[in-house]
Amino acid sequence: MHAVFEPHDNQAELARLASLFQAQRAAFAAAPFPSAAQRRAQLSRLKQTLLKHQDSLCAAISADFGHRSRHESQLLELFPSLAGIQHASSKLARWMKPRRRGVSIWFMPASNTVVPQPLGVVGIIVPWNYPLFLAIGPLTAALAAGNRAIIKVSEFTPRFGEALRLALAESFDESEVAVVNGGVPVAQAFSGYAWDHLLFTGSTSVGKQVMRAAAENLTPVTLELGGKSPTIVHGDFPIATAAERILHGKCLNAGQTCVAPDYVFIPEGQQAAFIEAARATVARWYPNLAANPDYSAVVNGRHLSRLQAYLQDAQEKGAQIVPLADADPASGKLAPTLVLGVNETMSVMQDEIFGPILPVLSYRDLDEAIDYVNAHPRPLALYYFDYDNARIGRMLAATTSGGVGINETVMHVGQDDLPFGGVGPSGMGHYHGHEGFETFSKMKPVFAQSRLNGLWMMRPPYGPRVERLLKFMLR
Ligand code: NAD
Repeated sequence: MHAVFEPHDNQAELARLASLFQAQRAAFAAAPFPSAAQRRAQLSRLKQTLLKHQDSLCAAISADFGHRSRHESQLLELFPSLAGIQHASSKLARWMKPRRRGVSIWFMPASNTVVPQPLGVVGIIVPWNYPLFLAIGPLTAALAAGNRAIIKVSEFTPRFGEALRLALAESFDESEVAVVNGGVPVAQAFSGYAWDHLLFTGSTSVGKQVMRAAAENLTPVTLELGGKSPTIVHGDFPIATAAERILHGKCLNAGQTCVAPDYVFIPEGQQAAFIEAARATVARWYPNLAANPDYSAVVNGRHLSRLQAYLQDAQEKGAQIVPLADADPASGKLAPTLVLGVNETMSVMQDEIFGPILPVLSYRDLDEAIDYVNAHPRPLALYYFDYDNARIGRMLAATTSGGVGINETVMHVGQDDLPFGGVGPSGMGHYHGHEGFETFSKMKPVFAQSRLNGLWMMRPPYGPRVERLLKFMLR
């Protein structure tokens, strides 16, 4: 059930990639500035393709995972993809407009504008956890900005990769949008191409390799990476509500979500209430979890073993493991599990968990939790549960993260009008919405001199005229 299925021949995919890249380069040179209407037409085709092929795409993801809830594929992959397309279609004419900028008194009456221009041919590297949304989100931004794109799908989702290739090939010429599959050698070669922009979504360690490869061509990169996203619950916030919202973020896709709450800080004395609420929530959502279609599997045996090793390591070092349901590992599923009494020597507190395991820490003073967060690498997301605006403001000012959810987990990613991206080790650059458009555009500054102007006063021969002028300029 969990065997890595690799129907793609790396050599053949590498050859396809080489010819696709040339074809897209040539097509871009022939048509470098698609109109708003052309871009909207492409986005409309993309939307129709996704709607038409949604069943085969969701089924392929489920087959690759061993089991992925169809509802989660629709809620967390298809819906945000379609919403992003809709948002870009309705806004792109405005985004494309040259924007007037100010001119200082010394250069008047010239004019300044910023003109968005398509970059050209972009590469998109996709991880396995949300293979549809993490391909279509960047593609939407790339097309809205007038580019051509080649998508490299993860070797862990080969069935999905083939389904996506077939679906897109039905409505796009491969000189506009293309998909390549294959293993790590294809991904490595892909990151070495001279893209006009490369957007990589994946782990921090592979992100470093991608940036190194891109540096050879000075290819600009957007890196959408991972990390341990902290969650902090204030003592005044209803603990059962917090538990439900945190468990939701942790159980979606069985915790295999880049912005899943990685660990949670609970006020001292409220742990028992949190555990009880978490247990009741899981029992209500997933009766008979092993066979429950709403609960997704861990993507493959390697990742399942990795997660089981975290639990074993934590237990051996003195932590208490609290499974919130029963799951038969043979089903490929791991039950949502709390880990109490953790410390920094445990691998579960060192690596990004990326699975349904939630370490529960306690704090006495809010500053303890803030200090802990700040002593660790800057995370992709931070969640804070509190209704007090002054304390929320303090939390926002005291911590740095890619994004923030107040009194909710994960949902900030689905906001079309918010940028999405990490900071430091959790990533660089942004996409989604307007920021996605700008990421895939050259925001070209244009200075236009006017027919009559005073610049002659600054030209040689420099003498008393320039001296007098400089007296004013250097004040
Ligand atoms: P990964 O880094 O192992 O792989 C990501 C992609 O990189 C895959 O397509 C893979 O084929 C490719 N790849 C592998 N080795 C490569 C190399 N040497 N050079 C170039 N490409 C290579 O990540 P994963 O296991 O697929 O995904 C999980 C990670 O992704 C987690 O860390 C998670 O937090 C992160 N993630 C981040 C976001 C985000 O938006 N920030 C979203 C989803 C997942």
